[in-house]
Amino acid sequence: MTPETILSPGTLYVVATPIGNLADITYRAVAVLDEVQLIAAEDTRHSARLLHHYGINTPCIALHEYNEREQAAKLVERLDSGVSIALISDAGTPLISDPGFHLVSATRERGLRVIPIPGPSAILAALSVSGLPVDRFCFEGFLPARASARQKRLQMLADETRTLVFYESPHRVCATLQQMKETFGTERQAVIARELTKTFETIHGDTLEKLSAWIAGDSNRRRGEFVLLVRGATKYRSGAGINAEAQRAVEILAAELPSRQAAELAAKITGEKKNRLYRHIIGDKQ
Ligand code: SAM
Repeated sequence: MTPETILSPGTLYVVATPIGNLADITYRAVAVLDEVQLIAAEDTRHSARLLHHYGINTPCIALHEYNEREQAAKLVERLDSGVSIALISDAGTPLISDPGFHLVSATRERGLRVIPIPGPSAILAALSVSGLPVDRFCFEGFLPARASARQKRLQMLADETRTLVFYESPHRVCATLQQMKETFGTERQAVIARELTKTFETIHGDTLEKLSAWIAGDSNRRRGEFVLLVRGATKYRSGAGINAEAQRAVEILAAELPSRQAAELAAKITGEKKNRLYRHIIGDKQ
């Protein structure tokens, strides 16, 4: 059952679709997809399964990364003539590591309306269950495919204090975690969010050292779709206050103990000031 939706003519609707579980779609999304005159889909064959599941027979046209600029110009003409169009991608929210940027910007430049129909996106689903700070985060999309370029990007992010979110392919997830471990340090906390909303959904958090070993240890854990989340860098870095040994000690203890107790113990072990260690931990938690 879907509510009646009154569509505006000449409007582009940017519609989020499921990231795995077909039930994760809003009533409004189904109504809009059913009522628009045309759906621009990243892959029409892929989306046919979703549309068929909801009994939607709206005509579809392909809009993917290879034809987007050309197709966008044609679609803007149709919007301008009063046709209402929905944009969808293979999964989740269009434009988020997916096609649609040229169409949305061209539509807005023409002064036509673009309406979001919000719903799933792997970024927010992963953040919401990661247990990492989410009040501020930094979405990096896919890292570059070449190892040297990937390394460079990770180095640029080493001091970022916000939680980092990456999309990653199953072929590279092992190598990427290894590079993250080398660049961000073995003790940095991270989370693997795999196959969200699907049968083999796995959300596993640990230090980068242990996560690298965990994923390398079983090929089944490397299958499917991945979001990698990494805790931001600590605010008080070695050299900018407490020494590296004290930093490491308090971080290990803080993973098991309340912050004050961790700071007290680390101060006894390393001779560093308790307050500085405590501030380090609080800074770490943002
Ligand atoms: N537009 C999508 C969104 O809003 O999340 C993202 C599209 S991007 C081409 C595909 C990538 O998103 C995958 O390689 C993976 O990194 C991530 N992703 C999509 N679905 C996922 C899922 N169910 N579980 C984990 N990651 C997922």
